[in-house]
Amino acid sequence: MSQYDVVVIGSGPGGYVAAIRCAQLGMKTAIVEKYATLGGTCLNVGCIPSKALLDSSHHYEDAVKHFEEHGIEIPGDIKVNLEKMIGRKQAVVDQTTKGIEFLMNKNKIDVHQGIGSFKDATHVNVLKTDGTTETLEAKNTIIATGSKPASLPFIKVDKERIITSTEALKLKEIPKHMIVIGGGVIGLELGQVYKRLGADVTVVEYMDRIVPGMDGALSKELMKVLKKQKVKFNLSHKVKSVERKGDQVIVKADDKKGQEVEFVGDYCLVSVGRRPYTDGLNAGAAGVNVDERGRVEVNSHLQTSASNIYAIGDVVKGAMLAHKAEEEGTMVAEILAGQKPHIDYNLIPGVVYTWPEVAAVGKTEEELKESGVAYKVGQFPMRALGRARASMDIDGFVKILADASTDEILGVHMIGARCADLITEAVTAMEFRASAEDLSRMSHAHPTYAEAVKEAALAATDNRPLHI
Ligand code: FAD
Repeated sequence: MSQYDVVVIGSGPGGYVAAIRCAQLGMKTAIVEKYATLGGTCLNVGCIPSKALLDSSHHYEDAVKHFEEHGIEIPGDIKVNLEKMIGRKQAVVDQTTKGIEFLMNKNKIDVHQGIGSFKDATHVNVLKTDGTTETLEAKNTIIATGSKPASLPFIKVDKERIITSTEALKLKEIPKHMIVIGGGVIGLELGQVYKRLGADVTVVEYMDRIVPGMDGALSKELMKVLKKQKVKFNLSHKVKSVERKGDQVIVKADDKKGQEVEFVGDYCLVSVGRRPYTDGLNAGAAGVNVDERGRVEVNSHLQTSASNIYAIGDVVKGAMLAHKAEEEGTMVAEILAGQKPHIDYNLIPGVVYTWPEVAAVGKTEEELKESGVAYKVGQFPMRALGRARASMDIDGFVKILADASTDEILGVHMIGARCADLITEAVTAMEFRASAEDLSRMSHAHPTYAEAVKEAALAATDNRPLHI
């Protein structure tokens, strides 16, 4: 029987990073993955493929709508070859997942392909595709089994026309009318992909705003921009049935007055969130408790109810984000090595990769109001930047919330071109507990989108932005 210091179950960004860090720290490490490719949701059917399609569709939209104003003329029609676009996405995924294989080899981590399940607290069975089972002895185990798309109890996802994000990443045709249930990150990103490729897109959202967890100003601005791009929104709508009739999908919902509304499309993307995944893990045999929402219960050290078993990423509480899973993977490896690592969950940024991009870190204005903290707001519009005007990406703003008495930055919320990358400046500043004035006195290269961060900091410090 193979014996390990650590067995990691699941090879997503949580699991594979945990395995690498364990190996770096000198532990004999194995990783168990049920699929043939490593990398989990993020690399196979999440972050990477969705960004590949967002980029391709963005290029297409630019070619159709914006090249001409840049003085670029393309003779003849510009067409989408969806098969090729999806093929390119798959090539990116294949290359990226092979990269994880390389990293496992480099770090001498044993990869066991098969479904991992607990025999007891120190043994993991791996059920292989040929039907045989191998048992691994593990001093410690890290559960990193991730999540799966959630649905609503009355929806039958047929994976053809009533689909989740997984199928939306490999459609064979461009929908004529895609109904997106759920105005969260995944629905809006994939909705925008197909909108750009020519589909009509209708978003039906239960809450009274899109991207509900984010600062209200971002929800409002993103909806305004997406409406300009002709995405249709139906907020405060409670979906009550989704039915397939031939090639049509009929979605019925109650609006906020309780009146029934019907939407007819040819595809329906169900993007109502994700559920933690522990199916087949046999967690109970190891004494690992799972809560009523299916999440593995952990303490502040990410330790489960079995003292030698830890859990990280989407399968535990907190934001379902790849970089959160990675930080947790590193943290558990370092705890096992006797170190005392720490994660500041307040500083895990959230990003929506629509265009304009939306990004945020720290407290929202709503959260500050609710907790009674006195704060100042500094906001600066992208359109006032020379860089934004040069590339005609003028939508959006940067908003900085700072403590009214100490000037410490409490939250940064931004929407605009390249915000997914810009947010790192805010994370760095907040990690070092910078004040808005600290940020405002740093030189920002000109012309860049980052100047909006400096200007918003000037506005937050003393209401003295320079360029508005
Ligand atoms: P996962 O990545 O879900 O990996 C879990 C792995 O465990 C899987 O490979 C699974 O097969 C394996 N597994 C499960 N059970 C077993 C078992 N019993 N035995 C063996 N193996 C098992 N996040 C971001 O931060 N940025 C983004 O841009 C982003 N975009 C996304 C876009 C889409 C369309 C989706 C769906 C998600 C996106 N996410 C994004 C979320 C991100 O993918 C997840 O937060 C991240 O993958 C979680 O990592 P994880 O390691 O916890 O689990």
